[in-house]
Amino acid sequence: MLAGDRMATEALKELKCSVAMLGEPQWNAPRANFLDRKRNATRRIVQASLSMRRRDFLTLFGVTLMGCISSSCGDTAPENGSLSPKKRLVVIGAGLAGLAAARELHGQGHEVVVIEARERIGGRVWTSTQWADMPLDLGATWIHGVRGNPLTDLADEIQARRLVTSYDRSIAYDASGQPLSAAAEARMEDLRGQVFRALEEAQERDTDTSIRQAIEPLMQQFDESSQAYRFINYILNSEIEHEYSGSIARLSAHWYDSDNGFEGDEVLFAQGFRAIADFLARELHIELGQVVQAIHWDRSPVRVITQKSEFAADGVVVTLPLGVLQAKRVHFVPELPSDKQNAIAQLGMGVLNKCYLRFPTAFWPADVDWLTHIPANRGEWTEWVSFKRIADMPILLGFNAADWGREIEAWSDRQIIASAMQTLRTIFGAGIPEPIDYQITRWATDPFSLGSYSYNAVGATPNLREVLAAPLNDRVFFAGEASERDYFGTTHGAYLSGLRAAREILS
Ligand SMILES: Cc1cc2nc3c(=O)[nH]c(=O)nc-3n(C[C@H](O)[C@H](O)[C@H](O)COP(=O)(O)OP(=O)(O)OC[C@H]3O[C@@H](n4cnc5c(N)ncnc54)[C@H](O)[C@@H]3O)c2cc1C
Repeated sequence: MLAGDRMATEALKELKCSVAMLGEPQWNAPRANFLDRKRNATRRIVQASLSMRRRDFLTLFGVTLMGCISSSCGDTAPENGSLSPKKRLVVIGAGLAGLAAARELHGQGHEVVVIEARERIGGRVWTSTQWADMPLDLGATWIHGVRGNPLTDLADEIQARRLVTSYDRSIAYDASGQPLSAAAEARMEDLRGQVFRALEEAQERDTDTSIRQAIEPLMQQFDESSQAYRFINYILNSEIEHEYSGSIARLSAHWYDSDNGFEGDEVLFAQGFRAIADFLARELHIELGQVVQAIHWDRSPVRVITQKSEFAADGVVVTLPLGVLQAKRVHFVPELPSDKQNAIAQLGMGVLNKCYLRFPTAFWPADVDWLTHIPANRGEWTEWVSFKRIADMPILLGFNAADWGREIEAWSDRQIIASAMQTLRTIFGAGIPEPIDYQITRWATDPFSLGSYSYNAVGATPNLREVLAAPLNDRVFFAGEASERDYFGTTHGAYLSGLRAAREILS
């Protein structure tokens, strides 16, 4: 270990201790979503604790100490704000961030109204009841890592039944549809090592590049029609694009994985993730169907204008998704300060879409949770989740992310299903049945989301999320997954951001 690394390791250990002592969420592993992420996660835990990269060292003091300071502020603030006079507060957005903030503020005796554009709560937590016998999540599915995750406490409190999916129960198929041979798996493992080594080297360089650029020299060693080339594309798509939702052409090689996560099982909700949103929403005053068009924030009271009403408040919590902020669907009057506008523009909003297919019977292996496919064309239908083992339902969920996920949103349902079935027929043969029903998402074109979740694009640094989160004039507060430096792109990140915004108001 280099001297610098050793120093950094010691500093990291000390800072982890101080964070733990202050009662922050436990220091944890990077989040893990998909097949082989487990292996990847282990690799990254080891990296984080043993050989901190230069970019981490340069920023860790800033990041973690800020975490400590804000925690200790929270700890020493006057009795949770209960001494402060009752305020009229507007929370924009009834996703987990908005609901968490509103619940906290309402609990402290403030007058809170949540304004939501859709005719439902939950935002990117959206459980479909289209199939009465199997509620399915069209947005977030998993609590990623149950240990120390604040959503686990909420799920325990409402005794929500959870189902565990496991990456150990997975099977991978090559482009011809055959299960990967032991030799091919070994080859994949070797290439995975090369990919992540190339990315680590890129993180040591002074200038940031896209992941695509960082991997280019490795890719150039192989013919485009070779197995190795396909394997590398598969690794980039399934382990990076599906997890972070951004295209490798846009994801920052320096910062794509700057997030943290929680350890433990990946669990989904038997009755859908909405159980959490419904719980948080209890007792709250929520106005549905109110599309915010403008926020006048230069003087008190702040005025929030929707297509049909106007709300005046002492303070407002903005939890608009990054995609909505980027598209300037809501006018801030006056305009947001330039550093905040810059943060909004520089961060990336990515895409992860889902396609549920329901079959008359399950024709795939009954004991696996994950089926993965190394496609001939990069990014096409690489990951599938089976609901057979966990819920005894003949349902497959296919994912598409980043460029390909965005591209096929323009297709008709029929075209998307035909494309999915082509992949499934490659694997399971021409004789498999047609689906009897389907559910398809299009998050990039959803007007109240304009993307699935945020990522660190080339040119963006993690501190931009703090710039995005910073309050304005003690009147406008910001929450939402994109404003969360360490847990962006997740439900727990959204939830924690809402609690943070509430804490800012209360203190
Ligand atoms: C397909 C998909 C899969 C995912 N999988 C997971 C997963 O398995 N695990 C996980 O932890 N995370 C997952 N995520 C991410 C997670 O869903 C989000 O990070 C989180 O739900 C975001 O919450 P939020 O409150 O920040 O934003 P949102 O939930 O988007 O809430 C913002 C709210 O603002 C509302 N709004 C927008 N515009 C206006 C307007 N003009 N006026 C009024 N209201 C407006 C929206 O309708 C929305 O309700 C997934 C996301 C997607 C899309």
